[in-house]
Amino acid sequence: MMRTTKMMTKMMTTTTTPRTRGAWSSSSSLSASRWWWSSKAAALTSHRQNVVFAPKESSLRSSSSSSSANNGGGGGGGALKPRQRRKRTTVHVETYGCQMNVSDSEVVASVLTAHGYELVDFTTQRAAFGENNATTTTTTNMPEVILVNTCAIRDKAEERVKTRLRQFRSMKSQVPPPHDSSSSLVVGATTTTKSANATVIIGVLGCMGERIKGELLKKDAKGARLADIVAGPDSYRDLPRLIENAILSNSSSSRKEKKGERIIRDDTDGNTSPSSRKRFEPKITETMNVELSTTETYSEIFPMRRGRVEDMSTSAFVTIQRGCDNMCAFCIVPFTRGRERSRDSASIVEEAKKRFYEENAREIVLLGQNVNSYSDKTCSAEESPSSTTITAAKTNAVYAEGFKSVYVPIRNQDYDFAKLLKDVCAISPELRVRFTSPHPKDFPDNLLQTIAKTPNASKLLHMPAQSGSTSVLERMNRGYSREAYLNLIDKAKAIIPDVAFSSDFISGFCGETEEEHEDTISLLKQVQYEQAFTFAYSLREKTAASKKLTDDVPEETKQRRLAEVIETFREVAKEKAKGEIGKTHLVLVEGVSKRDDTKATGRADNGKRVVFMNEDEKSKKGEYAEVRIREAGVNTLIGDFVKKTTAKAFYEANGGRAWYF
Ligand code: SF4
Repeated sequence: MMRTTKMMTKMMTTTTTPRTRGAWSSSSSLSASRWWWSSKAAALTSHRQNVVFAPKESSLRSSSSSSSANNGGGGGGGALKPRQRRKRTTVHVETYGCQMNVSDSEVVASVLTAHGYELVDFTTQRAAFGENNATTTTTTNMPEVILVNTCAIRDKAEERVKTRLRQFRSMKSQVPPPHDSSSSLVVGATTTTKSANATVIIGVLGCMGERIKGELLKKDAKGARLADIVAGPDSYRDLPRLIENAILSNSSSSRKEKKGERIIRDDTDGNTSPSSRKRFEPKITETMNVELSTTETYSEIFPMRRGRVEDMSTSAFVTIQRGCDNMCAFCIVPFTRGRERSRDSASIVEEAKKRFYEENAREIVLLGQNVNSYSDKTCSAEESPSSTTITAAKTNAVYAEGFKSVYVPIRNQDYDFAKLLKDVCAISPELRVRFTSPHPKDFPDNLLQTIAKTPNASKLLHMPAQSGSTSVLERMNRGYSREAYLNLIDKAKAIIPDVAFSSDFISGFCGETEEEHEDTISLLKQVQYEQAFTFAYSLREKTAASKKLTDDVPEETKQRRLAEVIETFREVAKEKAKGEIGKTHLVLVEGVSKRDDTKATGRADNGKRVVFMNEDEKSKKGEYAEVRIREAGVNTLIGDFVKKTTAKAFYEANGGRAWYF
C-alpha cells in the first residue's frame, strides 16, 4: 500500500503531465489529487504499526448493528454464522484514486480493527506499476485478506486496478497450503481446514466495485475470478460479514471441489449456472454489497490513521460530505457514490479536534464530492431557531450568482459550509484548513466573506472550470457559463485579498471544436491559476454524455489539446511565480527534504512547495516558519529561513490579511 500510494503521489501531484490515475471529474470527484495528497498518503501508508486510536465503543456497536440496518448486511445476502477465530485475521488495504478513497480506507481500517482483524502492510512487487524501487515478491507473508479500494473515474484507472488484482490472484495461487493447526477455522461448531487457494480473500472496494458489481466475482474460463468480495462505498460497515462469508464459502467450495461434488453458486459467485442468472443482479449477496445509501456518512466511526503519532503527516483528511447530485454529463461519481448527504457538524468538529490535539495535525483538509454544498440538516429547530430550508426561489442565497443546478437544494441555511469552515478554523489559529473538492456554484458571497475574514482558512480556492467555453459547459451540464465563472473569479478577488485559484480541465469533451478549445486556453491565461489538474476526456458508461452525446474527438486531438492546455498553464504559472520572489511566506513545515537532508520542506498557503536551508534543524515538522523566497518555479519555491513563527503571530503581523507579506 505504501508504495502504491507513493507512486500515485508522483503521478497525481504534477500539473505538467497528463495523469494516468485520477480524473477529470475532480471538480468534486476528488479524483485529481491535490498536492496535499502526498503528505497524507505517506502517513496513511506508513508501515504496520500500533493502532493509535481505538474505535469508540459507539462505533463498535454501530459497526455491527447497522450492517443490517443500513446496508442490509446479513439481509439479502443470507449471512452465515459468525466465525470465531483462534488468531486475528490479517488484512492489507491498498488504496487507489482520490483523497476520499484514502479517507474511506481509514474508515475501513477502523471497522475491521473493531471486529478483531489485524491490519498489516503487505509490500509486494510493484515493478509492473512503474515503481523503480520494486521489492521482491514473496507470498510467504501474504495476509489472509487483501482489500483494494478502487477508482472508476477513468478507464485507465480501472485497468490498472485489474492488473493489480491479477497480480494478487497469481500470488494467491502460489500460497503454500497451511501446515499447522493454527490455520484451522472454527465455524460455528465445525472445524475446517483451509485449502491452498482458500487462504487469501481478495476484495474490491469503492467506486470500481460499485460500477462493475458482480462481474468481478464471476469466474473466467479457467475458473479464476478477480475478487472474492465486492463492497461499494456505502457498505464498509458490512465488510466483516462479507469477509466471513467469503472465507466460509472458499473453504466449503474447496472441500466440495476435492470430493468432486457439484457446486452451486449464486449469480455473483461464479458463472457455473448461466441459466440461473437473474435479469437484475441483487445488490446485496453473501459476498457483495453495492447498495448505495442516502444517509450513510460513517459519522460516528473515527477513521483510523495508522502509524505512530510522530510519523503521521501534518495533514489530515476529514470527510464531511458524500455523494453528488450535480450530474455533470461526463461524471460517473453520482452513479458510484450516490446521492449527496452531509455528515453532522458535531462529529466533524470532534474529529478535527482529535486530529489537531492528539495527532498533531496542523492542516485539516475537509473532504466531499461536492464539499462546499455541505449542509448540516441534523441541527434541529431547538438548536437552530431560525433554521430554514432553501427552495428554488432562494437559490441565490446558496449559489454563486449566475449558477444553477439540476436539483433544488434543500439546505439548512443556518449551518452551511461557511459555518462549518468557521467552526473548524476556530479549533486553533495554528490549524490551517483547506477543502476539496468544491463546485463553483457553491461559492455564495457569505462563503467568500468567511474565507476572507478567517485567517487560517486557506486562500487557495479550487474553482474547477472544466472548460472555458460556454457551449461546452452547457453540454457538460455544469450549470454556468464562462461569463458567470469569470464573474465569480472577479468577485472572489474583490472579497478575498490575495486569493489564488486552482482548477480542473477536461480536453476533448464530446463535440469540442478548436474554437471551444481556444476558449479554454484563453481562460487559463485570464485567470492565471496557481495549479491545474488536466485530463483528456474518457467516456464512462451510464453518464449523460454516454447516452446523449458522441465521444467524437479523436484521441490524438484530445492529447494534442491536453498538451496545449498544460503548456499554457505552465507558461502562465512560470511567469506568475516570478512575483513570489522577495515575498515572505508562512510555511507549514512537513519535514526534511528528500533530496537534501540539510533542507526542510513544507507548503505555503498557496499550495506551493517551499524548500529552504534548515540549519541546526531549527524548523521541525508541524511547526511554522517564515521563509523569504529567492527562486520560484511553477511548483516549487526556494527560499531562505527567516525565523520560526506561529500562524497566529504571522497573521497578526500582517493584519490577518494574507498568507505572505
Ligand atoms: S457530478 Fe459531482 S462529482 Fe462529478 S464532476 Fe460534477 S460536481 Fe464533480
